[in-house]
Amino acid sequence: MTSASTKRAFMMKVSGLTKHYGETRAVDGISFTVPNASVFTILGPNGAGKTTTLEMLEGIREPDSGEIEVFGERLKRVTRPVKQRMGVLLQDGGFEPYLKVREILTLFASFFEKALSVNDILETVALTEKSKALVRTLSGGQRQRLAIGAALINDPDLIFLDEPTTGLDPQARRNIWDIVSGLKARGKTIILTTHYMEEAEILSDEVCIMDYGKIIAQGTPKTLADDLGEETMIEFHGADVPSQALERLQACCKAARSDQMMVTVETEHLTDTMESLFAWSREHDIKFHELTVRQPNLEDVFLTLTGRRLRG
Ligand code: ATP
Repeated sequence: MTSASTKRAFMMKVSGLTKHYGETRAVDGISFTVPNASVFTILGPNGAGKTTTLEMLEGIREPDSGEIEVFGERLKRVTRPVKQRMGVLLQDGGFEPYLKVREILTLFASFFEKALSVNDILETVALTEKSKALVRTLSGGQRQRLAIGAALINDPDLIFLDEPTTGLDPQARRNIWDIVSGLKARGKTIILTTHYMEEAEILSDEVCIMDYGKIIAQGTPKTLADDLGEETMIEFHGADVPSQALERLQACCKAARSDQMMVTVETEHLTDTMESLFAWSREHDIKFHELTVRQPNLEDVFLTLTGRRLRG
């Protein structure tokens, strides 16, 4: 980490960032501060404006208005020399399938005056054993790790990961989480986008929730969930609840929703609500599948703020 960035409390500060595509307000005047050596996550559904935001921060897209402060410089747009100090995860598909893993990283290293050793990068992204493998033979998770390795080659203090685990299986996703946590432990700042609530909860120091181009909530995963109050969530699957029955349920708890065969009940009085719920299920002949009782999470924050689920 540079001495200048060590002195500042934040790595990046964004004010009033805006990008419109015709009538679409893709990013609509957002502001946030990214602390040093942290994982900062932009969480939101498809089309929320996450990628457009990242592209402006990475210098790929020019903002319509707003200001970006990064590495101690205030900018209207991110310039090439600033870009050189960042690490950007390229989306999968960009690598030549008949090159070997080591050859790809060596190629990326040649783009920079100063680059990390390819062996170190291979170790960081757990691909040492695959160094001689052709790209075409890698699994989806291994390819994504290679892409992250390529983003790290210039030893950036600030790393952008746009939906790094989309489409990966749970094990491959966990491997990427380990890499992200390892980078943070080494003092790197990571700006991540995701539409996986669990990913945001596990990795993030700070989360901002984006919807229709705006930030609708911001904080640590815990403070965001705590803001919902002293609530407990009861959930069950498999029931198509008629509207009349749902209204009866809503009358005996703080809130209840039925969405895509899943019913979510919010309560501040768990025992009373459970009793009412069992009586209600008998009355309406509704069977519970996978009944769970849990504390509120980021999905609930999103649902409460927008009335929609993160993943539709
Ligand atoms: P996803 O999770 O699907 O990648 P996102 O949150 O990253 O979504 P963006 O890709 O930034 O969202 O898109 C925000 C809005 O801007 C969407 O309504 C999208 O259709 C629109 N949009 C994005 N890029 C363009 C473009 N080049 N031209 C016109 N509209 C665009």
